[in-house]
Amino acid sequence: MLDSKLADTVGGRTAKALEKAFGMQTVADLLAHYPRRMAERGELTELSSLRVDDDVTVVADVRTTAVKGPPANPRLEVVVGDGPDKLHLVFFGRRSTWRKNELQPGARGLFSGKVGVFNGTRQLVHPEYVLLRGDSLDETAADVYAGRLIPIYPATQSVRTWVISNAVQQALQVLDPVPDPLDAEVRARRGLLSLDAALRAMHEPDDREQWAAARRRLAWDEAMGVQLALAQRRWLAGANPAVPRRRRRGGLLDAFDAALPFTLTAGQREVGDLVADELGRDHPMHRLLQGEVGSGKTVVALRAMLQTVDGGGQAALLAPTEVLAGQHARTLDTLLGPLARGGELGGSETATRVALLTGSLPAAARKRALLDAAGGAAGIVVGTHALIQQHVSFADLGLVVVDEQHRFGVEQRDALRGKATTPPHVLVMTATPIPRTVAMTVFGDLETSTLSELPAGRAPIATSVVPAAEKPGWLDRTWQRIREEVAAGRQAYVVCPRIGEGGDLADFDAELADYDDGEGVGDRQRRPPLAVKEVLPMLSEGPLAGLRLAPLHGRLTPEDKDRTMVDFAAGRIDVLVATTVIEVGVDVPNATVMAVLDADRFGISQLHQLRGRVGRGGHPGLCLLVTDVVGDASARERLDAVAATTDGFELARLDVQQRREGDVLGAAQSGRRRQLRLLSLLRDEDLITAARAEASDIVAADPTLAEHPLLAAQVAALVNDDQAEYLEKA
Ligand code: ADP
Ligand code: MG
Repeated sequence: MLDSKLADTVGGRTAKALEKAFGMQTVADLLAHYPRRMAERGELTELSSLRVDDDVTVVADVRTTAVKGPPANPRLEVVVGDGPDKLHLVFFGRRSTWRKNELQPGARGLFSGKVGVFNGTRQLVHPEYVLLRGDSLDETAADVYAGRLIPIYPATQSVRTWVISNAVQQALQVLDPVPDPLDAEVRARRGLLSLDAALRAMHEPDDREQWAAARRRLAWDEAMGVQLALAQRRWLAGANPAVPRRRRRGGLLDAFDAALPFTLTAGQREVGDLVADELGRDHPMHRLLQGEVGSGKTVVALRAMLQTVDGGGQAALLAPTEVLAGQHARTLDTLLGPLARGGELGGSETATRVALLTGSLPAAARKRALLDAAGGAAGIVVGTHALIQQHVSFADLGLVVVDEQHRFGVEQRDALRGKATTPPHVLVMTATPIPRTVAMTVFGDLETSTLSELPAGRAPIATSVVPAAEKPGWLDRTWQRIREEVAAGRQAYVVCPRIGEGGDLADFDAELADYDDGEGVGDRQRRPPLAVKEVLPMLSEGPLAGLRLAPLHGRLTPEDKDRTMVDFAAGRIDVLVATTVIEVGVDVPNATVMAVLDADRFGISQLHQLRGRVGRGGHPGLCLLVTDVVGDASARERLDAVAATTDGFELARLDVQQRREGDVLGAAQSGRRRQLRLLSLLRDEDLITAARAEASDIVAADPTLAEHPLLAAQVAALVNDDQAEYLEKA
């Protein structure tokens, strides 16, 4: 049985070791400890590329064995090999020489240990090993490995791969056939092994094909669990009632459209129609709108908000930061003009009001905004997530628009829905292009729309890498370019990774990229990233002397942030020296140049996002990625990639590829991250798509999975407590 205690199956000592090392308790836990790879002859070749201190396991034959050194302090030197490749093993001390008897030339074994170097030769010191054949034939090992692929498990110093392997063997021998949560019909259609066959073949495959088939089936189950949970969420959401907010002739939306100074792009119109239709239904809309920076999402959202107000409801627009909330409120106010002067002299008859709610509002203004929200005078309420979640009550909240939601997960969306008596419609906007599979997984409870074209007349952004260490002249030229733009009446950003206040995490306004940059990069040995507070005086006394510079970062008071943004937008500041606080949404069309300092510290998508701040007006934008890394190929590759294309989707893909898989799902999904061990969001697109289709069918026929208890158990194992609660509530 899968839920049998390990101690009853593999013996108390091994069970204890496995529990201590990996927290395993049941046979299921053990069998879920998948081999990292299957060892074969020929792998010794890769030893030359192994790094010192790596813990390795190799299959090899003993070539020579010799006892050397003084008799009082002898050492046993063994050379093992595979084809032309050789590796030295060394055992020190008199108590080691007995091994000469078992490590006879010709014996084959698995050797595990840390790679070291001695006299320029790679060697394993005191490796652990198990022999596969030879004079001192270890019977279990021989049985296990004879003619088979050898599973190499994630192991520890105290629990070696063959200990795990033996335990798995024992468990599989007495394991009853494992029941399959998936119908035979679905398995046949999707070409999947049964769960029983897959579990066995995962650990002891006959050949590589069978191992691949096992991995595929087990990865399928991971995909299926997630997709079933999401399908259930979609189903539940669809079963919820919502107040329809139909478009009203002669209402705000009509007035807005009539006054719009530009024509909508085809994409804006198409998505707009879809949203208009969904808002008019009696089930809540749950839509994700993605589109490049500047593709015009805000206009789409505003039109949805106006339709909601026309339908008697209110809309909340949630931004991730106060800077953005303030900017959104100003943008909406400008776009709406007299339509936002409800109740004021000179306001239009149909007009409503936009209320801004930030923590920094003076008490009176804040009270007024809260009253307007609660009483319904404000058709649109703009604020940060936190503020609106905590403090505001609405007369009739009909639509929640979440801007730049990228960093928030399913749970946060649930909290918002709770604000209205009847579940509101939800529109999530993101400018960070999300690869399809990630969208299907992380945002799988939302329907997705994409704005793929930019409004006409958008000037292109040119991007160059400035290798400051190799070519100091280019850095001078960077500052010169900024002076030129300012002289021409334009503005610039200088972006730094750090604020420059204290050395802790709060010194960063965003998480910097976490790439798997191999050894030698040695972040710890590098100087700390440049900081706003150091760079600003350096520039104002040096290359940008005489220009009007101002800082912007997360440690400023909200009032200061707001004032700085207003001053910059009004052209009273020439150069904003900022952190990533400007990353999302900041919209100052007159800003044309951006220099990103220590650009290698930022992520690919982050850089793409940042440079979207320039070139928003009619003037071409210029983005200069300044770096002084020399010789870190992958960091330079990333910067070159950003410079080479402005296709956000391509860059997002690249970003996902270079990061560790788990990083992709983000912190909000950390619970799920541990569960997705075989599934790759990048490689398994076909599998995820197929699982999604099957999951939708199954849930359509059996929404609560009452007839599929095993599938229900799989889902339960995936969703965390919050989500389970959500599922129960509905
Ligand atoms: P996003 O939110 O997707 O980054 P915005 O909605 O902020 O993009 O739009 C960027 C800029 O383009 C804004 O100044 C907006 O007024 C303008 N804009 C939006 N749609 C159009 C359009 N169809 N034609 C011309 N300009 C547009
Ligand atoms: Mg925007």
